[in-house]
Amino acid sequence: MGAGPTGLALAAQLRSHGTRFRVVDRSLDRVRESRALGIQPRTLEALAGFGVSEELVARGNPAMGLRLHLGRRTVSVPLFDIGATDTPYPFLLFLAQSETESVLGDHLAARDVTIERGTEVVGLERQGAGVVARLRGRDGAEETVTARYVVGCDGARSTVRAQAGIGFEGYSYPQTYLLADLEVDGLEPGAVHSYMTGRGMLFFFPLGSPAPWRMLAMRPSDAPDTKVTLPLLQGIAERYGVRGLTLRDPVWMTDFRLHNRGAARYRSGPFFLAGDAAHIHSPAGAQGMNTGIQDALNLGWKLALVCRGAAREELLDTYGAERAPVGRDVRRFTDRAFVIGTSPHPVLRFARARLVPRLAPLAGHATAPRRRVFRTVSELGIHYRRSPASTTGPRRPRRGPRAGDRLPDLPRGLHDRVAAPGWHLLLTGPPHLWPDERLAPVLAGRADLVTVHRLGDRSPWPGVAQALVRPDGHLGYVARGIEQGGLRAYVDRWLPVEPA
Ligand SMILES: Cc1cc2nc3c(=O)[nH]c(=O)nc-3n(C[C@H](O)[C@H](O)[C@H](O)COP(=O)(O)OP(=O)(O)OC[C@H]3O[C@@H](n4cnc5c(N)ncnc54)[C@H](O)[C@@H]3O)c2cc1C
Repeated sequence: MGAGPTGLALAAQLRSHGTRFRVVDRSLDRVRESRALGIQPRTLEALAGFGVSEELVARGNPAMGLRLHLGRRTVSVPLFDIGATDTPYPFLLFLAQSETESVLGDHLAARDVTIERGTEVVGLERQGAGVVARLRGRDGAEETVTARYVVGCDGARSTVRAQAGIGFEGYSYPQTYLLADLEVDGLEPGAVHSYMTGRGMLFFFPLGSPAPWRMLAMRPSDAPDTKVTLPLLQGIAERYGVRGLTLRDPVWMTDFRLHNRGAARYRSGPFFLAGDAAHIHSPAGAQGMNTGIQDALNLGWKLALVCRGAAREELLDTYGAERAPVGRDVRRFTDRAFVIGTSPHPVLRFARARLVPRLAPLAGHATAPRRRVFRTVSELGIHYRRSPASTTGPRRPRRGPRAGDRLPDLPRGLHDRVAAPGWHLLLTGPPHLWPDERLAPVLAGRADLVTVHRLGDRSPWPGVAQALVRPDGHLGYVARGIEQGGLRAYVDRWLPVEPA
């Protein structure tokens, strides 16, 4: 339940697997405000299977550079151009959340998925192995529905989380933040602009639509605590050292406080949590919506397989095992970035005012640290190596991605080959090593679930290897050589021909 970006992504994945489901949302309309504005490379990769990423890129605004305004000086720091060759989307895409939701909504509408708007979930009760949900329509009439599973994609104040009795621990930040979508005269287009002072940071992001720029700043402690107006924003911008820019034509202005909280569990019996219902944190690094969408795409195919009897319930427990650590890491990383950027602590104030101006010009040359930051922020580095559903065969390939890693797009075009919903078995080395008879025991009873690709020498692994790619693009099983015992054991466990 919930048709924000997380719920829409889940619906798209369930639909692609032919699962029966309902999506309800209490609001009458989708979000019209820009809200989350950065789409990460991994999210674009993950959504590409639905055929929506090209449309998102067409509507958005890739930004490759950061301009750090440090008093009278401006330093340019490349954002993402570190030569990432293993993804078709090596950039951060700026696009308003309202547009992202519109693209996903159109995708679902074209596939006859109806979002039941104006329908609120007002009660959830466990019954046997499933749930009885009480839904209230816009006319106040109530309906009860029986479901095997309920996924709470219902945001930070999640009803599902409350009804499932799952805690949401964390803390709130003391400061207030100001946000506006507007036009800024005099600002160089196509880059993120950051004004850094001892008192904090102010950003302008190239949004495009519904306004050319997003402004984000901490409200200085000595600034008036009044309603957000254009003159207030102009005054605050000048206090952050902005000179010669005129703010105008705002389409959205607001202030808000930030929180850092996480769900104690991602599953309780038939209830699952995804997106903001499971984790909220600062917008530093544009991770919130992206993490939610990727939660959904980790869970959707698992639910689909279990619902059609092609996998055991056990598969559903890997959702929390894989995504809860990701949520924790994102909360930790965004907290650090945020505190460094905004803390009034004297050491950090000094660092922002004195050290950053000296070190920033070197950032463009620091390729290795920038590559590490890119893998984290882009979410391409997320892996599930410690998941029970990630297995390395008796012999591990000498190089290349490991079980639990995301499949890289190497050679380019590999992602297109494995885009169809389902599992994909990649076989490398001379194709004659992989006759159909050799694969028969693995594929028997699963031919409709697993597609086989003989890649020859053009693969991410050297020599002869076998790898089973999950429907979410992560590697479930990886091994060197032609021996199939390990792979057989893997599919018997996770894709049993006769699930219990
Ligand atoms: C002012 C603002 C600015 C933001 N800026 C950024 C940003 O710059 N970068 C970033 O990454 N993130 C940002 N975010 C956060 C981002 O919007 C969220 O991370 C994202 O929307 C989470 O998506 P979601 O689908 O998990 O939840 P939501 O988008 O909150 O969707 C939840 C849906 O569930 C529905 N719902 C709730 N309860 C019920 C119920 N009982 N019955 C039926 N339906 C229900 C709601 O109507 C809603 O549509 C911002 C958020 C706000 C509010």
